[in-house]
Amino acid sequence: MDIIKTMEKFDHEQIIFSRDNKTGLKVIVAIHNTNLGPALGGTRMWPYKSEQEAIIDALRLSDGMTYKNAGAGVDYGGGKAVIIGDPKKDKTQEMFLAFGRIIERLNGRFITASDVGTNMNDLSVIHEETNYVTGYSKTGSSGNSSPITAFGVYKGMKAAAKHTFGNESLKGKTIAVQGVGGVAYALCELLAKEGANLVVTDVNRDAVDAAVKDFGAKAVEPDEIYSVDCDVFSPCALGGIINDETLPQFKAKIIAGSANNQLKEEKHGDALYEKGILHAPDFIISAGGVLNAVDGLKGEYNKQRALKSVENIYNNLMKVFKIAKDSKVSTSIAAERMVTEQIYGETYKVNS
Ligand code: NAD
Repeated sequence: MDIIKTMEKFDHEQIIFSRDNKTGLKVIVAIHNTNLGPALGGTRMWPYKSEQEAIIDALRLSDGMTYKNAGAGVDYGGGKAVIIGDPKKDKTQEMFLAFGRIIERLNGRFITASDVGTNMNDLSVIHEETNYVTGYSKTGSSGNSSPITAFGVYKGMKAAAKHTFGNESLKGKTIAVQGVGGVAYALCELLAKEGANLVVTDVNRDAVDAAVKDFGAKAVEPDEIYSVDCDVFSPCALGGIINDETLPQFKAKIIAGSANNQLKEEKHGDALYEKGILHAPDFIISAGGVLNAVDGLKGEYNKQRALKSVENIYNNLMKVFKIAKDSKVSTSIAAERMVTEQIYGETYKVNS
């Protein structure tokens, strides 16, 4: 694998490879772009089958963070760390202390948070060696970002309703929710409170039963959720669910949910546009977790202040919808255009 050539493809600034003999730590920190500020992104721990797989994941995830952070309007660039190892077997306190020292030596170019395979406890160990970490217990910032992400999705859904129906109220609207995990359960709670009609699905029967019991939701089978006759389809489980198979099934006028990378391919964003379905791009609507993490970097974490910043997802999406409408492009292209201009400046144009 030609590493620098691969970095050139997505315009990465730097990759740091580190290992620690004593603890067995093997970590790759990918810094994609720091135009807006230090690179901020979680640390993933995963039993990668090869170094190449780990490098590709670090590059892909750090690139995504540049866009997510810019879309959230925060002064941070994009980065991500991946630790090669099985989080169930290989984690030790010494390993995370060693990782903390590596982050400290980067002197603020990279700030981390949790991701798949790492949690608040690991972050608090890292914090023993460095302040360039957020979401650890002592900040008071919730290690569980799901409720605040849900609040952002709720606000984003309201923006989409305002743009589509002329009114942001979700009362009486039918909302089909795919996956009722951490984010979606909290989202359903907000929606039920507002008087929306919920239709839910999950591969976990207990999660479905809880939503039926707690919010009066109607349950459907996992493969039936795409074709539910509804106003809003809210994907909160998996990526790639907007694809050639699901597109003909959608009856919703809006797609707005927390799942990452909802479009299987870029062309599926154009297909939604042509079908007249308004899609809230995932890296804009699901930025609540990032905004929460950033609040933890401002000194003492303040939940009310974090929630206030998450409310801004409404305005960010309204901007995206306006760009899409004015330029007659899909919302995914509009969002990419908006953040690319933020990151690289007015003169940098994509897919115009
Ligand atoms: P979670 O694991 O708590 O919930 C996901 C739910 O989806 C689970 O209940 C799971 O059983 C269900 N599911 C899995 N496969 C399914 C399928 N085929 N059909 C129906 N349901 C299925 O995860 P979460 O934290 O609620 O996150 C949900 C999504 O939002 C993920 O894509 C995540 O990457 C994204 N996201 C989460 C956050 C956050 O703060 N937690 C932030 C940004 C984006």
